[in-house]
Amino acid sequence: MPMLSNTPDLILYNARIYTVDVDQPWAAALAIRKHRIVAVGSNDEVLTLAGQGTRTLDLGGSLVLPGLCDAHIHFMAYALGLQDVPLADAASKAEMLRRIGDRVAGLPHGAWITGWGWNESRWGETAFPVATDLDPVTGPDHPALFSRSDGHGAVANTAALRVAGITAATPNPPGGVIDRSADGQPTGFLREQAILLVERHVPVPAPAEIDAALQEGMAVLNRLGITAVHAQRMKDSPDGIQEWSSLLRLREQGKMTVRVACNIAAHDLPHLAALGLRAGFGDDHLRLGHVKVFTDGSLGSRTAWLLDPFVKLDPAEAVNRGVSVTPPEQMAREFRQAAELGFPISVHAIGDRANRVCLDIFEELKDAGVEPPLPHRIEHVQIIAAEDLPRLAHLNVTASVQPIHATDDMDTADLFLGERGAHMYNFRSLLDSGALVAFGSDAPVADPNPFLGFHAALVRQRPERMEAPAWYPHERITLAETIYAYTMGAARAAGWQKTIGSLTPGKRADLIVVDRDLFALVEGGVVGREVADAQVEMTIFGGEIVYRKA
Ligand SMILES: [Zn+2]
Repeated sequence: MPMLSNTPDLILYNARIYTVDVDQPWAAALAIRKHRIVAVGSNDEVLTLAGQGTRTLDLGGSLVLPGLCDAHIHFMAYALGLQDVPLADAASKAEMLRRIGDRVAGLPHGAWITGWGWNESRWGETAFPVATDLDPVTGPDHPALFSRSDGHGAVANTAALRVAGITAATPNPPGGVIDRSADGQPTGFLREQAILLVERHVPVPAPAEIDAALQEGMAVLNRLGITAVHAQRMKDSPDGIQEWSSLLRLREQGKMTVRVACNIAAHDLPHLAALGLRAGFGDDHLRLGHVKVFTDGSLGSRTAWLLDPFVKLDPAEAVNRGVSVTPPEQMAREFRQAAELGFPISVHAIGDRANRVCLDIFEELKDAGVEPPLPHRIEHVQIIAAEDLPRLAHLNVTASVQPIHATDDMDTADLFLGERGAHMYNFRSLLDSGALVAFGSDAPVADPNPFLGFHAALVRQRPERMEAPAWYPHERITLAETIYAYTMGAARAAGWQKTIGSLTPGKRADLIVVDRDLFALVEGGVVGREVADAQVEMTIFGGEIVYRKA
């Protein structure tokens, strides 16, 4: 039995521990000393290590997994969004408007109203909400902006358009579209970079408010079994500085209960160059990660950059191949500059054309001998041409994908891409191609609950309609593969494979106790929501119990 010296502080025993360590996949007991795992083995082997002051916990046969890592989360946006008008589960436009109206009461005159997460496809609609929907509930004095669930579109009210100075005469900004009615007036719906025209007027929260929101966000993630995240950047937003400095304050105060690998926006490359920083700078709690670049938009907003046009829903779509939000020449420059500074690239690419352009640039860099210290990664890889699939493993590029997008988007994909859905969210094919796969949620775009992601990867159907067939069922993956992508896969993608990702002596003691035996459920053939409804009984972060279900 592998172990390190000295008396443990805590022993968990009588458990079904799935370690994600190939040398010892299953164990019954585990010992922790000073934030680290010191022994993993049978009950007898581990309990004999107990000494004076060792606390022992009988887990009654519960399933234990390594703490889960969300490899793609907009953590600050998610945490601040917890304070916004919640729109993700609004079942209709009427409900969205009702919730916004409820928020207006009690707001000081002129205060902004913001919210996240509405999605017309969940209402059985294809039209986006517009300013004239919002104005009756917000009134003329409160500027308001509400992001679509994918963050690639947003609706502003008339007051917000006025604050931003958007009129019929305002040209579309580069990489963005201001939707207009037949008479040329802005409708209030904004796409991609046009959102920023309004967003930059939304007041920035004070540092203390951000600190409090991030701390609460970590507590929420702990309850969901998450003990590490890869925090993603937004394009042309100052979110990086705000999030990084807030995390540094929480780090100093010993208040971090989630490890954060923080991306850096490409527009901050000159600062990295000036300071001589490299990826990996930081420690086991907080470290600098990849440089984030954006290639295209999203499927739902019809801004994914495609090889072939969207299916002909209406005449305009017959020519629409999506949007390139960063010129490829600029991307190539940024990829090279980052890699030469010692930073790998994390690049958002949804459409098959976007993915190909990224792979082409990675290939050029590899051919030129410019190797990053950690693997580059592509975020989402939602649609990839069959001939491009093997290039991920060949070029050592991580596929950072979000299983819940598959079930959230399956109807939209059928509608806008038809049978090309066969090349979307193809997790089985990605794994079989040899690519390193890391799973995440993309919260607040989707729910960060990892068990919803487990369900999506295993079942490929929404939990609430399990009677319907799985969506491209041959792309389902196994539970062990799913857990790997949420633990070691994500750890390797961030260069954290020696620190976390498996329950191995010497690693940080981050682990969760699950309220049901997922392996037994899967072996029994999941029939309903059993996996999606799994809950965390206890979360241990660095050897400390940070959450325990009441
Ligand atoms: Zn994202």
